[in-house]
Amino acid sequence: MRYVSTRDRAATASLEDAIGAGLAPDGGLYMPDPLPTFSPGDFADVRTPKAVTERLLAPFFAGTSLQTSLQAICAEALAQPLPMRALGTPGDHLLELFHGPTLAFKDIGARFLAATLARLRPATAAPLTILVATSGDTGAAVAAAFHRRAGFRVVILYPQGGVSLRQAHQLGAFGDNVLALRVDGAFDDCQRMVKGALLDRSLGMPLRSANSISLGRLLPQMGYYAWAALEHQRASARPLSFIVPTGNLGNALACVLARRMGLPIDAIVLATNDNDALPRFFAGSGYAPRPSVTTLANAMDVGAPSNFERLRWLYGDDDALRHELRAFAVDDDAIRAVLRHGGAQPDLPPCPHTATALHVLARLRAQGDTRDYAVVATAHAAKFAELIEPLIGRAIDSPAPLQRLLSRPASSEPLAADDAALKTRLLRLDVA
Ligand SMILES: *Cc1c(COP(=O)(O)O)cnc(C)c1O
Repeated sequence: MRYVSTRDRAATASLEDAIGAGLAPDGGLYMPDPLPTFSPGDFADVRTPKAVTERLLAPFFAGTSLQTSLQAICAEALAQPLPMRALGTPGDHLLELFHGPTLAFKDIGARFLAATLARLRPATAAPLTILVATSGDTGAAVAAAFHRRAGFRVVILYPQGGVSLRQAHQLGAFGDNVLALRVDGAFDDCQRMVKGALLDRSLGMPLRSANSISLGRLLPQMGYYAWAALEHQRASARPLSFIVPTGNLGNALACVLARRMGLPIDAIVLATNDNDALPRFFAGSGYAPRPSVTTLANAMDVGAPSNFERLRWLYGDDDALRHELRAFAVDDDAIRAVLRHGGAQPDLPPCPHTATALHVLARLRAQGDTRDYAVVATAHAAKFAELIEPLIGRAIDSPAPLQRLLSRPASSEPLAADDAALKTRLLRLDVA
């Protein structure tokens, strides 16, 4: 299997290089080419998310130095439970991806990336610094995945006042090889500073990003869609459709790839917040990225979805792409209404991101759509207690991993929102 840049089919890379590098040298994103194809029978003897993911990823790892590690990498990345629950209405399901260490689906991709990079890194190499800008969930997932991993350091940049109190505490509670920097600026400043540092050769230190274009995060995400669709088909003899809360399109793209590879997936529907570049595009307008607006589903506050380039590359033509997916924007009032009514499960309200997808499901049902749907639940409500508890008038229990982090002291350092300040700080990092 080779990996090609979305900007130049002739620019190819190995799996190791594509995962290690992030961006292709021409600024494009790496895509596996050609995609392998499967039939459901290929998975007849595998039933767990871990085993299905391993089978699905085998062709991607075949012939690489990571081939013999695939099983162990999947075991690390998919250690969390991945329940798919039937909801009250027949045909409605919730695929819960939030039972990992930081209670968001990003744990799976981040752990897979960490497990992969750890095996690619020569034992004698200088420590690798993973630099992440975060609006909340990514930073915590990446920090947890690399925490106390020998040979790695994590530097997180987050906008001061721009993440929830719990998210801020979570980011600062790791310590050890994780440094949290609260930037006196917006998320866009954090992202700009990270980009600047990654391009700055004068820093003279090995740096990597771990953002949502990383192939090492994308690959494992295909596994849970494959598993859920196969289980559903076994139980009902019908394909499963998905509604995916979408920001940078990493999670939804994994679903599209799984369908392309022959898994029994029917419709794929994107739910966004008020950042509606994708709904506009799928409704027939040209693709028009724009500055992001702040919403209650803050991990989806993305004006220019970074994986859109991959989706376009995959279909080649915008009209063909428009036939394959639908997308709906959900505003803050609708998110609040779903949160207030408890969403789909009486015991646990959804997070604001999952709420967008539940709202879309209700809209599709009202239009008479009778497909079997799984709403993808991307984070646990307890991460957003400040928002949800006043709406529902009661406390949300925090799962054990969150309690553990919240009970630890947290510390972060202030940082000015400029490239020079970040550079100075990076040059002062202690050798881990
Ligand atoms: C990151 C995130 C999303 C959006 O995922 P993308 O892959 O960027 O589309 C949705 N929900 C939650 C809770 C997230 O953390």
